[in-house]
Amino acid sequence: MNWIKEKVKSFVEKARQTFKRERPSKEDQAESMWVNCPGCNQMQLKEDLNKNFNICKCTYHFDLDPKVRFSEMFFDDGEYEIIDCPEWADPDPLNFKIGEKRFIDKYNSYKKKTGQQSAILAAKGVVNGLNIIAFGYNFSHGGAALTQREGEHLIAGIQKALDEKVDAVVSFYQSGGMAVTGNLNSLKNMPVQMMAMKMLRQAGIITIGICSSKITGGTFCNVYGNDFIFAESPKVENMLFAGKRVSAAVNKGQELPKDFGQASSIVDNGMIDGAFESRKEIREKITNLVRVLLKKSEIEARAESTSNVKVDIQSAS
Ligand SMILES: [Zn+2]
Repeated sequence: MNWIKEKVKSFVEKARQTFKRERPSKEDQAESMWVNCPGCNQMQLKEDLNKNFNICKCTYHFDLDPKVRFSEMFFDDGEYEIIDCPEWADPDPLNFKIGEKRFIDKYNSYKKKTGQQSAILAAKGVVNGLNIIAFGYNFSHGGAALTQREGEHLIAGIQKALDEKVDAVVSFYQSGGMAVTGNLNSLKNMPVQMMAMKMLRQAGIITIGICSSKITGGTFCNVYGNDFIFAESPKVENMLFAGKRVSAAVNKGQELPKDFGQASSIVDNGMIDGAFESRKEIREKITNLVRVLLKKSEIEARAESTSNVKVDIQSAS
């Protein structure tokens, strides 16, 4: 009866080929008008999401481009000044290669794709009358992995905050951690950033970290340098030391809890100060917090000009 088995096998294989669903490529997904929401597992029209700051009806928060965040929902009148990354800051001091591909070529493609000078968009502007410097980490820029260049860009922004004695520094985090391509040049970002964040505190500048999604590894050095840390929604996922696959491998045979690395469980464990219900609340709530801490009314804040206090990070470190 082998011939029957062969016939059935060949029929099944033909049917499989006929009805096979090709997995859409990244390009296909980018061009599609629809996206699958991981929160409700329903297809959502991208246009509808864009109108609601990339928040699904189920309250799942998709990634948001820092430029959109800054201009449409953070700075007053959508106006802000870009803080430049120092030209000399090298993202690839080791001339790293991934297979046959040069990392610097990949890095330049991220810059072209995002229109940013580094994985971080650094900006200064006014928010509800307060002078604020903001950092927006862009995951579309190579997973916002922090090379030496991102480290120098952060320092440039923090130096400006100290020079102009702004009211607050607000960071919107999304980052895979320190870039492995830079080896120790990337790791040195960690102590330098911790010192720089401490200098902001000593200067009386309020620092607030907002976890947007996907934060792992050394980026937590910067996150925990803030006076306050919030998640932008209780559903923010992947706030982890390492990715879920790696964490699961360490704990062989045991399933990770469903809310492992999710903001709600991290708040419950007391590791951050709280979670907003939605990213739409951030602007009002953090400016209220800063005003209370600085004892400034909105009218006073708007009337007050920045002072000329100068503290130099390089000489102090
Ligand atoms: Zn949804």
